[in-house]
Amino acid sequence: MNEANTRQLYREFPRLYRAASRPTSESAMRWGFMCGDGWFSIVRELSQQIEEAARLAGVDPDSDEWPCAMQVKEKFGGLRFYLSGGYSFELESTIRRLVKAAHEHSLSTCESCGCPATLSEHDHWLRVECARCRAIRLDEQARLTSARSAIAPKYKIVFLDYDGVLHPDHVYQIKGRPVLKVDGFNLFEFSDILIQALKPYPTVRVVLSTSWVHTFCFKKAKAWLPDELQARVIGACYHSSMSAIEWSRRTRYQQIMRYVSRAKLQKEDWIAIDNDPVGWADEYRANLVLTDDDGGLSFTYAQVDLAEKLELLVTNSL
Ligand SMILES: [Zn+2]
Repeated sequence: MNEANTRQLYREFPRLYRAASRPTSESAMRWGFMCGDGWFSIVRELSQQIEEAARLAGVDPDSDEWPCAMQVKEKFGGLRFYLSGGYSFELESTIRRLVKAAHEHSLSTCESCGCPATLSEHDHWLRVECARCRAIRLDEQARLTSARSAIAPKYKIVFLDYDGVLHPDHVYQIKGRPVLKVDGFNLFEFSDILIQALKPYPTVRVVLSTSWVHTFCFKKAKAWLPDELQARVIGACYHSSMSAIEWSRRTRYQQIMRYVSRAKLQKEDWIAIDNDPVGWADEYRANLVLTDDDGGLSFTYAQVDLAEKLELLVTNSL
């Protein structure tokens, strides 16, 4: 249950939920309500009913005999509500009846949104869920699965530099914007060469190795690319959680190899297009499409090299 709902219940029923401040070794209430927000109303109503029953039974609200919830959770698809014991026989049986009714109510109430729903089994998991919430959950599951597979080496990766690859290597940041200081050229002027080169290989994905990610952030750096290339981008070597100083001390090769090792890529899973060969290890020379600072991908030799290496990449021959 979300924090707002949890806090509301604690605020409305501070005595019933007094065990929430106890260590987890004494009471599971410390974990909060271990069920979905769709059951908030059921839990709230049950809380009111239990306290009302205690009041009618003449229990002093400040005494230890006042009902104390020890754990509220979902189990086998339904709502379970456990209290500490020691009440009078009459109060005990009233509480048992109320908890049972709330449990039955939960079995026909969507645990996520509170709409009418039925108990059903999915992947050996019992759950009360309406059709809409089920669709949302399955959608989210599919999205997560595809996001996970995006970093698995099932895809072939092209590490992409911008400056000296997609346009000449003379880009400066002026007032927060990239400016190319070479007469007669535009930023990303050579992008179409890469788009055409990648066209036969729909499973090839792009990881940004450019310093633009560090300078402008990943989202902005990616947004500069034409749509066809943006659609292939699955990540970047630089991440904002990394120390900027430490990062800038690394060579481009080291920055790329960090990603390679973290994503557990094999030698045959990736190539890099870059104009910076500093420190590049001999054993990975075949993985680098080295471009000219001024000509980038516009030079024929770079295009031939890229075409050959993409072919080797997708045939596992690097
Ligand atoms: Zn629902």
